[in-house]
Amino acid sequence: MVNLKVELEILTRVRALVLRLSIHLEEELVQAIVKYGDPVLGRPADEVSKFDESLAALVAEMFDVMYAAGGVGLAAPQIGISMRIFVMDASAGQEAEKRVTVVNPTIELADGDQDGAEGCLSVPGFSFDIRRPDHVIVRGQDASGLPVSIDVTGLEARCVSHEVDHLDGRLLLAHISPLKRDITVRKIKKRIRSGDW
Ligand SMILES: [Zn+2]
Repeated sequence: MVNLKVELEILTRVRALVLRLSIHLEEELVQAIVKYGDPVLGRPADEVSKFDESLAALVAEMFDVMYAAGGVGLAAPQIGISMRIFVMDASAGQEAEKRVTVVNPTIELADGDQDGAEGCLSVPGFSFDIRRPDHVIVRGQDASGLPVSIDVTGLEARCVSHEVDHLDGRLLLAHISPLKRDITVRKIKKRIRSGDW
């Protein structure tokens, strides 16, 4: 007969190990995000023409990274992959129908204005007031190549606009005043120099 106390102790240790491993995995996923200064963020991404298993795996990884980082959206160049793909989930994994993948997106409609605070996983630690369209319709394909059309407003419209910008090599810094941009870039460069970026 196995000692109950020993069994419990083993169980507790295994639980602690699993917790440590999952925290470690989450940190690794977040570290996959490339930040301001990486040239991949500054160039237009390539059209996707092959819808195969590796594309599906890439999309799955993008969702993992986005959830681990606590983001609402993620574009492929943000993990160093210059391909026209973005993922979005404004419900943070709570509602399956909010999980959106768009490959080769084109914005069909960008209507109205909204003003609000916005951040970017590739420019961590900063938030800016940015005007975006309030209603966006985007067309493209899903991860298996089937046509999709997404009609969104509010936060999701802001997010789609932000992610499609990434695919065109544009960061949210393009939407702030030159003065604010200079100040921000100086702060980032200081952080890069001190190894804090
Ligand atoms: Zn971003």
